[in-house]
Amino acid sequence: MREADRLALRDPARARAFAERLRSLRPDRLVRIVHVCGTHEIAISEHGLRSLLPEGVEVLEGPGCPVCVTSTRDLDRAVKIALQGAIVCAFGDMLRVPGTDLTLEEARGLGADVRTVLSAADAVEVAWANPERQVIFFAVGFETTAPGTAAVILDAPPPNFSVLAAHKLIPPALETLMELPDVQVDGFLAPGHVSTIIGAGAYEALVRRHRVPVVVAGFEPLDVLYGIVLLLQQLRQGRAEVENAYPRAVTEEGNARALALIEAAFEVGPARWRGIGNLPASGLDIRAEHATCDAVQRFEVRVEEGDETPPGCRCADVLVARATPADCPLFGTACTPVAPVGPCMVGSEGACQVWYRYGGRPTL
Ligand code: SF4
Repeated sequence: MREADRLALRDPARARAFAERLRSLRPDRLVRIVHVCGTHEIAISEHGLRSLLPEGVEVLEGPGCPVCVTSTRDLDRAVKIALQGAIVCAFGDMLRVPGTDLTLEEARGLGADVRTVLSAADAVEVAWANPERQVIFFAVGFETTAPGTAAVILDAPPPNFSVLAAHKLIPPALETLMELPDVQVDGFLAPGHVSTIIGAGAYEALVRRHRVPVVVAGFEPLDVLYGIVLLLQQLRQGRAEVENAYPRAVTEEGNARALALIEAAFEVGPARWRGIGNLPASGLDIRAEHATCDAVQRFEVRVEEGDETPPGCRCADVLVARATPADCPLFGTACTPVAPVGPCMVGSEGACQVWYRYGGRPTL
């Protein structure tokens, strides 16, 4: 049995053993590991894993919070559609993300019908229950949530239902981080849930092109520690490979059925990422044969490229791992989960909100 399979997921003895291994892998230069997953950040912050890192190793969250990376343009579009009288269904975290003028929650305060749902299928139920109204599902998230949206598009939804598609793809975002100025990435901790869909093999091209190690990791504290150990081992040995530290859930090829759903409903296209900008081939557009389900076609709403970052907010840097939440002067003072300034404090997976929830200290 492989080591990752034997993990007793919260075994203190194994945690101590990993901490020892981490200490033995102390680098002789600053090493920055980037993960792209709010759930990883929660595991790291909640369990104080940064306190186990050897000197010279930093772990930062990149563009891993789907709410945070949703552009103001897409949000403004959802707000305008809601103000036109349609029912807009969205995940709860989306309601307080700032748009150019309004959040969805503020639009609701002005009389718009904005509803919280847990899935695309829930939004379809709203459409069946309100045949006289237009119902839009605001589809955000990465490869993890895209199959659910694809499934409803392909399953003959009611004629009053459409999708405002803002799904994004993780591998192109990782490619971009490698090319941004002033962003140091020495290794990626790849997200376990996205990887269950796309497979560990999806990172091979990135590794070949940039010679950067990638380790797919699960979400238990020991999964994360094990992933960091493997990354530091690769760096020490001068290797750059994809390693799968989450084999109990992730295969090399991914989930063929989910990938087929995505392929049938969407085609890969450019996407606008908050804090990063327009990235080619990093989003999912609804295929022309399903255009009747495309809210952009149905509503023809015009929006400008809005300001992505409120004044003083460093989300744009936090989202590309150029800064930590603590580097922002507004963190924990003018900006808190009760009164968030930027999207990284709104999303429950946003780095700023996670750091605030668990004490707001990088060493916690
Ligand atoms: S603490 Fe608030 S203002 Fe600062 S980067 Fe985070 S979300 Fe933006």
